Amino acid sequence: MSTQTAEEFDVVVVGGGPAGSTLAALVAMQQHRVLVLEKEAFPRYQIGESLLPATIHGVCRLTGVADELAKAGFTLKRGGTFRWGASREPWTFAFAVSPRMSGPTSFAYQVERSKFDKILLDNARRVGAEVREECPVTGIIEDGDRVTGVTYSDPAGRTRQALAKWVVDASGNKSRIYQNAGGKRQYSDFFKSLALFGYFAGGKRMPEPNGGNIYCVAFESGWFWYIPLAGDLTSVGAVVSRENASRVQGDPEQALASLIQECPEIAELLEGVPRVTTGQYGQIRVRKDYSYYNTEFWRPGMILIGDAACFVDPVFSSGVHLATYAALLAARSINSMLAGTVDEKAALREYENRYRREYSVFYEFLTSFYELHQDEDSYFWQAKKVTNSTRTELEAFVDLVGGVSSGESALTDAEGARQRFRDKSTDFATAIGNLTDINSSSMVPLFRAGVVKQVMEESSQVQMRAILGDEAEPETPITPDGLIASPDGMRWIDPQRVSAGQGTEAGSGR
Ligand SMILES: Cc1cc2nc3c(=O)[nH]c(=O)nc-3n(C[C@H](O)[C@H](O)[C@H](O)COP(=O)(O)OP(=O)(O)OC[C@H]3O[C@@H](n4cnc5c(N)ncnc54)[C@H](O)[C@@H]3O)c2cc1C
Repeated sequence: MSTQTAEEFDVVVVGGGPAGSTLAALVAMQQHRVLVLEKEAFPRYQIGESLLPATIHGVCRLTGVADELAKAGFTLKRGGTFRWGASREPWTFAFAVSPRMSGPTSFAYQVERSKFDKILLDNARRVGAEVREECPVTGIIEDGDRVTGVTYSDPAGRTRQALAKWVVDASGNKSRIYQNAGGKRQYSDFFKSLALFGYFAGGKRMPEPNGGNIYCVAFESGWFWYIPLAGDLTSVGAVVSRENASRVQGDPEQALASLIQECPEIAELLEGVPRVTTGQYGQIRVRKDYSYYNTEFWRPGMILIGDAACFVDPVFSSGVHLATYAALLAARSINSMLAGTVDEKAALREYENRYRREYSVFYEFLTSFYELHQDEDSYFWQAKKVTNSTRTELEAFVDLVGGVSSGESALTDAEGARQRFRDKSTDFATAIGNLTDINSSSMVPLFRAGVVKQVMEESSQVQMRAILGDEAEPETPITPDGLIASPDGMRWIDPQRVSAGQGTEAGSGR
């Protein structure tokens, strides 16, 4: 092994998943030098197939890849259908307020991640980022307190160095690079679960217009996802309590088959359909302990984005949204710092505040969502009651939200958080009850619920900005001295300087 002379970049991105490729594209589009180091050769398998509209119509429009995604033949997802909560009948959460008011952004896609991630990574290359696959990052380089680069192996096994003004860790949840940012990874007890998943060669579809929806079904041992990826491909996964670990790991095939039999709705959809047993979908996979956030999101010279920074339960398909949204926020910070219009502390504080806020909005939404489903006899569902969540978990949430709670009164204690989660769940349950009938195609009652409005709010902003550009309404900062997005969505600007007539850029040295 030999070490060659270090190369220099503005930004080195570790990992070419949705977070890494999005950030790389948005920074390279501003003519900065970006290197992406990806451990695998793409296409590679990844879980996380059900997307939200903000990724497609917001972030992917800004990176210029939305039209290519539209041509890729992914299943159109108009929303989610749930057998969850008080009613025995499934109900639907559609992205459009009603079929008559469905706009061009009221859908997302169900994607095979191997294809989706490759389209995004190739796009980053096309807009100017240097992308090197089969190049695992092995460590970081520091100069005093500051991260100044990384060491990695090239495809021939040689150790190399790349120096950068910022290293962005977008290496997902399994890599340990994030540990170099300091702080610690705080795992959630409340969302602690285990997922067991595989693929089936077809399966029934929901009646139109919901044929492309994700279907989530609560049952005694947990809940199932059922994602129509293509006519002959369905992703099926069970989320169960960690206590099932030995059953699941001992014989995953048998465990998945028996869980399916426990859930009549899923068993009926899959009746007579064989499991895929070859290729990238041939294995049954297990994931555990997957909700956490890092106490630090950045340090001088280094920023964590996507799963490297945080992840919360998959039931509302928020993973890729949070990953690409974080990439957009961090790219704005980097573009502003490289343009010299905002200093590191102000830029990265803005990044962290906004990302924490969006994460906490989903955390609250999901806690209320779990609270909706009642099953007195189920170990899984009893553990998902806010009443039973530990003080430590609630205190950790209060710490996470800190001063960036979502527009409502700031949370200061665990009991306040418990009460708020309960209230939001009641509000949510009422909204579902108010759907004129359970098969109603009007989403108005749901969209009136505070918790639903809150979870859609930032996503709508991101989409509006991507579509309207300069014509979008100026946003308001989320903290009194906070920054707002520039009209093109690529940087931060200081609203106080704009109103004082001092140009549109954020000042440095804040
Ligand atoms: C059970 C389950 C179900 C889920 N379902 C959904 C869903 O339906 N919808 C949804 O939106 N999300 C879902 N998710 C979440 C989703 O998988 C992630 O949030 C998303 O993939 C995060 O993207 P990322 O770019 O941060 O990380 P990743 O997609 O993990 O990408 C990280 C990349 O970094 C590379 N890498 C790792 N280490 C190194 C290294 N040392 N050097 C170089 N490269 C490296 C990896 O090879 C990988 O390509 C689910 C998650 C779980 C656990």
